[in-house]
Amino acid sequence: MYTLVYSIDKNEHPETVYVNLTNACTNSCIFCLRSQKDDVCGAEMWHDDNYSLEDIINQFEKYNPTPENVVFCGYGEPFLRREMMKEFCKYLRENYPQIKIRVNTNGHASAVYKTNIPKEFKGLVDSYSVSLNAANDTDYDNICKPKIKNAYEEVKKFIKACADEGTEVTASVVTGFDKIHYVDASECEKIAKELGAKFRNREFIENGY
Ligand code: SF4
Repeated sequence: MYTLVYSIDKNEHPETVYVNLTNACTNSCIFCLRSQKDDVCGAEMWHDDNYSLEDIINQFEKYNPTPENVVFCGYGEPFLRREMMKEFCKYLRENYPQIKIRVNTNGHASAVYKTNIPKEFKGLVDSYSVSLNAANDTDYDNICKPKIKNAYEEVKKFIKACADEGTEVTASVVTGFDKIHYVDASECEKIAKELGAKFRNREFIENGY
């Protein structure tokens, strides 16, 4: 069975585990790890989405004691397995209500499903980290190569929708990648604040972590 739940911590009892729901994505970011390597800390990240909720639970339950945080992340956009994510969030809430749940997302999901995803997941997700990645749509298109229309505006709408639901949200940019010299991080920070989000400038790291 491939990697659905993994840790990047060498500690036998990690504080945080990550859930790798899918390799599909509506972006094709120029810095995406998927185009650079096949594993994260030795965990093979490629799979074909052919798994069940029980498979996720089985991998998760191997962490004993359970971690403090679960982060949906991995090699793809986790909301593209929206129902699977919802079921696993419900499982965590019912069995481990103390665990904090975060979703790292490209912020396209509301546009993809034509609904308000932060509202739909209210109470199931404690916080979001949304890849803003640029201060305008031209830069965003160059960096993220989105497959949906008006992607940059949709990302901003998603961030605002998280804040409007009262769910903690952080907008992030990646800097320090040698092919991106033009991201205006302070302008991105301003946009993040205007949308009601915190801001994180994430230095690009070769291996991702
Ligand atoms: S949004 Fe994330 S998974 Fe998708 S292409 Fe960009 S970096 Fe890769």
